Amino acid sequence: MSVFSNPHFDNHEQVVFAADPESGLKAIVAVHSTALGPAIGGCRAWHYADEDSALADVLRLSRGMTYKAAMADVPFGGGKSVLMLGRDQKKTAGLLDALARAIEGLGGRYVAGEDIGTTAADMAQIRRGTRHVMGMPREQGGSGDPSPMTALGCFVSIQQAVKHKLKTDRLSGVRVAVQGLGNVGMNLCRLLHEAGARLTVTDVIFDHVRLASERFGAQALAPDAIVDAEVDLFAPCALGAVINARTVGRLKVAIVAGGANNQLARPEDGSALHERGILYAPDYVVNAGGMIQLAAERLGEAPAVVEARVRGIAARLGEVFLQSEREDKPPHIVADQLAEQRFRPGALAA
Ligand code: NAD
Repeated sequence: MSVFSNPHFDNHEQVVFAADPESGLKAIVAVHSTALGPAIGGCRAWHYADEDSALADVLRLSRGMTYKAAMADVPFGGGKSVLMLGRDQKKTAGLLDALARAIEGLGGRYVAGEDIGTTAADMAQIRRGTRHVMGMPREQGGSGDPSPMTALGCFVSIQQAVKHKLKTDRLSGVRVAVQGLGNVGMNLCRLLHEAGARLTVTDVIFDHVRLASERFGAQALAPDAIVDAEVDLFAPCALGAVINARTVGRLKVAIVAGGANNQLARPEDGSALHERGILYAPDYVVNAGGMIQLAAERLGEAPAVVEARVRGIAARLGEVFLQSEREDKPPHIVADQLAEQRFRPGALAA
């Protein structure tokens, strides 16, 4: 396993390998940057195929959090942790306690949260061993489900993208295809419907599609047909890598803006969108609403402040679009550069 020469290493400040034979803990905590504040990022519990996959995942995700936090304008850096579960290993209180000790050992440089494979109840268990954790159950002072704020961030991003590309302030009559009707997608559909948008939707779970049709008059499409939809805007809210070599040429939309993480399979796919004249709203700028809500738990901010911060995503996205147009550079590259100017100003000046 290579660490410093790992393609995802990118000058991580600190990477901690934590083991505890008694509980069976094997975990990696990655702190990419604390330039803007303590590194925040979820704790993923996963059955990784091997150690290299776990390391690549934690480094990639932790770096991504730095960019997301920088563009969300919250005083935090980026980090992530992965709990590497063995083939038949289950999460236990002992395992989470051991992880809590590893997090505590970082003295607040990393603040954990929920992610794939962990729950608010797990965060409450970790809280017994360290205060550097967020996303606890609501009854224990947590801020609850982050998805509505993520969806609000997507909604204001869509408004901004439509304003920039279609030159209108109104969503009334704008045709939007939403892929994935889970926590984020369904909330987004509601907001879009209330604003008068015309919805086309898909999901692999039929009940989700039925609900969206009943509630919002959405037209349903098969999951593999959604990228071909003849609409104004495509909003990926399900899987990553949905914009890839196979799909990028099929899109018939003017805009791609949605909540899913890692929508571009490769950076080249973002460039291909730009060449085709399709406006891409960089995913980590759009979907930062949930992270803003979690960050607010640490900052002790009131719900009204959280909402204002989430609505502020639109202005930052507007900055990205304008610079992209001025420099004829794809928005995903512009967003990365703007984020880097925030967390690595010295490096850019040097
Ligand atoms: P979710 O699991 O609640 O919803 C995902 C939905 O996508 C499900 O209804 C699922 O059936 C559907 N789906 C899966 N595969 C599909 C396919 N091939 N075609 C169509 N639909 C498919 O997840 P979520 O919390 O709504 O998150 C959605 C996306 O947004 C994820 O990429 C997630 O990483 C990202 N995200 C979520 C949040 C948040 O606050 N929940 C924050 C940031 C980013």
